[in-house]
Amino acid sequence: MKKVVTRFAPSPTGYLHIGGLRTALYNYLYARKNGGKFLLRIEDTDLKRNSLEATKAILEAFKWCGLDYDSEVLYQSQRFDIYKKYIQKLLDEGKAYYCYMSKDELDMLRASQEAAKQRPRYDGRYRDFKGEAPKGVDPVVRIKAPLSGEIAFDDGIKGRVCFKADDIVDDFVIARSDGSPTYNFTVVVDDALMGVSDVIRGDDHLSNTPKQIILYEALGFAVPKFYHVAMIHSQSGKKLSKRDGATDVMEYKTMGILPEALLNFLVRLGWSHGDDEIFSIQDLKRLFSPKHISKSASSCDFKKLDWLNEHYIKTLPFETLKAHLKNLGFDLDAIKNAEFLLDMLRSRAKTLLDIINSAKDIINQPQSYDEKGIKKFINENSGKILEKYSQCIEEKKNAAEYESFTNEFLAQNKLVLKDLAQPLRLAITGKSVSPSIFELLEFLGVEELRARIKNFLAFLAKI
Ligand code: GLU
Repeated sequence: MKKVVTRFAPSPTGYLHIGGLRTALYNYLYARKNGGKFLLRIEDTDLKRNSLEATKAILEAFKWCGLDYDSEVLYQSQRFDIYKKYIQKLLDEGKAYYCYMSKDELDMLRASQEAAKQRPRYDGRYRDFKGEAPKGVDPVVRIKAPLSGEIAFDDGIKGRVCFKADDIVDDFVIARSDGSPTYNFTVVVDDALMGVSDVIRGDDHLSNTPKQIILYEALGFAVPKFYHVAMIHSQSGKKLSKRDGATDVMEYKTMGILPEALLNFLVRLGWSHGDDEIFSIQDLKRLFSPKHISKSASSCDFKKLDWLNEHYIKTLPFETLKAHLKNLGFDLDAIKNAEFLLDMLRSRAKTLLDIINSAKDIINQPQSYDEKGIKKFINENSGKILEKYSQCIEEKKNAAEYESFTNEFLAQNKLVLKDLAQPLRLAITGKSVSPSIFELLEFLGVEELRARIKNFLAFLAKI
């Protein structure tokens, strides 16, 4: 069986885009499914456009998502010597050549081709040049690309893809006049040296692939299997933009979305397994296959992400959820009965922020009371009822016992639940919406309840 090695190769020009994360995820899953390796390579050769912050942001997003990669991260900016060696090799073997065409000459050629409605392309004038090198021009290095025939490959998603050599490629530049290697060249050298067997990437790279195949062949490297994944579109069928929703992976963290939900959401944008919607990362490591990646662009319905987020908030183990909350700056370790608190909140939360906000309302004594709630639920009897309830109530074992005590209390005092429940909720949390008051009582205990009722009565006395 072949050894599967995949990679994700972002250019650090900004944050990690959700489309990039989907590509990374597919590569990750394919490697894990096959017991192979998943490597990370930072394509930071463009010193003007790349930044250290962007690299950090990408690594941080990987960490947040829990996508673990094998080996050290590889940085292209540290590999210029290697690229130089391979450029020299191609020059020595006559597979590449120096081109001394000046910028003015190139511009003139372009202009005449455009005027003749031809595709702008290099005309090969230095391909077989044997004379004296012109002075004053720092040459670029060009590859000798095939002049005719086809460059074809079997794409794992699109099927057979053919490019006519004279249509698509000319003798493209592999090293600029300052000696720096170009994008397609570094990708090929690195993928080959890293032993990459399968390249899953966005189909915006499809036009690079024939060029890369030419380079693999010239360098004598095995060509990997390619899979070009269709883009993610907005629901209106356009390129996904910030207007449709956040595109920065880490923005989802600050929105209180779980990485489990985001990964589940992204994997389904273009891949399917029957009609199933919910996939844990463990499931995916077992089930994923590029065979089931769709040929057509997938449309991004963020409502589904919310739905998945609610699902994972409800179902993740306590420890996992606790770790995610800690990552957002909310530490449950300091809280007594934290698991009970979380169970109370997770059934109604849509995001981790909902959990944090409601938890704070419960843990801390209210500093203010919901005005609308006061108007709607408080009448001249509320204070007296709360006072009496506070005097009668005793410590109980659990929510069910608090509930039966409360029912007895209501019956004895000829009251209905409405007379007590909302005023009590306001006294405890300051809000008109909260988890069950009986669960709140179990969590807080009678002493804390009495203190909160006392504060609330003092507040009511003032209005
Ligand atoms: N660095 C390229 C990008 O960020 C990816 C190269 C590749 O996957 O081959 O789009």
